[in-house]
Amino acid sequence: MNNKPLNKVFNFDNTYPQLPVSFYSKLNPAVTENPELFLLNTALIQELGVNKVTDADLARILSGSKLPDNSEPLSQAYAGHQFGHFTMLGDGRAILLGEHITNEGERFDIQLKGSGKTPYSRGGDGKATLKSMLREYLISEAMFYLGVPTSRSLAVVKTNEPVYRETINTGAVLTRVMTSHIRVGTFEYARYFGKTEDLQTLTNYTINRHFPETLNNENPALSLLERVMNIQIDLVVNWMRVGFIHGVMNTDNTSICGETFDYGPCAFMSSYNPETVYSSIDHFGRYSFGNQPQILKWNLAKLAEALLPLIHPDEDKAVSLAVEIINQFDSIFNAKYYSLMLSKIGIDEPHEEDSELVDELLNIMQTYKADYTNTFTSLRIEGFPQNNTGFKNAILPWKEKWEKRLSKTGRGIEHAKSIMKKNNPVLIPRNQHVEEAIENADKGKLSTLNTLLETLQKPYEYRVKFKNLLFTDPDFDKTYKTFCGT
Ligand code: AMP
Ligand code: MG
Repeated sequence: MNNKPLNKVFNFDNTYPQLPVSFYSKLNPAVTENPELFLLNTALIQELGVNKVTDADLARILSGSKLPDNSEPLSQAYAGHQFGHFTMLGDGRAILLGEHITNEGERFDIQLKGSGKTPYSRGGDGKATLKSMLREYLISEAMFYLGVPTSRSLAVVKTNEPVYRETINTGAVLTRVMTSHIRVGTFEYARYFGKTEDLQTLTNYTINRHFPETLNNENPALSLLERVMNIQIDLVVNWMRVGFIHGVMNTDNTSICGETFDYGPCAFMSSYNPETVYSSIDHFGRYSFGNQPQILKWNLAKLAEALLPLIHPDEDKAVSLAVEIINQFDSIFNAKYYSLMLSKIGIDEPHEEDSELVDELLNIMQTYKADYTNTFTSLRIEGFPQNNTGFKNAILPWKEKWEKRLSKTGRGIEHAKSIMKKNNPVLIPRNQHVEEAIENADKGKLSTLNTLLETLQKPYEYRVKFKNLLFTDPDFDKTYKTFCGT
């Protein structure tokens, strides 16, 4: 195969290779003989200002079979706490092609996922199945249009090579676009596998790249911790808003720039229950819907521990400074959570006692197994089909209270509804629809997936013609299971 660089597809300006070599391994992605462009995100291509080439060339580039100009492919080293246990990890099946600069001067990592073995693959094959990459594409794009910070998906390229799991699957490579792939686990790696200078270098690099405004702060490491805590709180509050369960909130999957990523066993909750878990390996509900805030706090404590030597040379002093930050977590989280949840019921100037309205509503929803998304839509749209009669009756006293509270604002129900419309998606990627779309696409019928992708671009609009996407078989989710790195 001709490995001469192609024209400039990406506008690469790579900074990660300037870190000490222990932070990555340089290597080329695996070459596949017959790559096929399966899904292409044309809107994102335009947004990023990626230069056009033929589909055949794009398939070769985005499968890793041909390197674009100025690519410096590498896999990143990182460690992490997985289900609470610390371990060395790294990109076992991902290769960063480079950092692309948009016409507006924004920097994005362009990463291939499923592009072959790396020095961090351990026992794995470095590959990904078409089905799991389609799932990541679909859900990450849905999250983007829901307004939740996320990695994005530029393309899925079929490799036309078999990937062996429990069955034989079609292989694929996903192109993931993200502000950066630096994670809590990158700091844990620097702290526990490197020297203090390495930790310092990574911290400086991260602050320069993501939080330059804190560069001259008195204690940059502490500022970094505080900034990451705040943007991660914003992120997880947003997950709670749309009913998203990440499923594998290990520290290596917690991004420093506050974006959702690593779409493995994630799923959306239908009936409201904070204990909801779909992941086949999460036996104790560590990453259940309602546990996500506490797990975030735990992950941030791990970031704090990793940063200790930079926070203060005296360890006790460092610990007390870090604890002071982490101790603010609960009050910041609660304030942001209730503010967002109240916006879901149309209240934008909350009073202290309003949080009760949220808690009461959630309790009734849980008791009657009401659909999380549809409940909020039904509060806004008169006559919205609600077939849960138990819930319909049980909520009446709450509704009376809520309407009374809204009338006190003096701004009318229409004002409340406009706030509710912005904060309550009508459409989410429901598990049964996601699976149907992926199964069909895997068999070569792409229309279900394309329709779903298109409708999920406007999740806040109620359109009668997509009514069938608002409901699924209630039994489907009862036994639904999701899987990690398939
Ligand atoms: P994840 O559960 O996706 O966060 O992955 C955890 C770790 O397993 C990371 O280090 C991944 O790179 C690695 N990994 C996942 N799948 C594979 C695979 N098929 N081959 C090699 N490494 C993998
Ligand atoms: Mg991961």
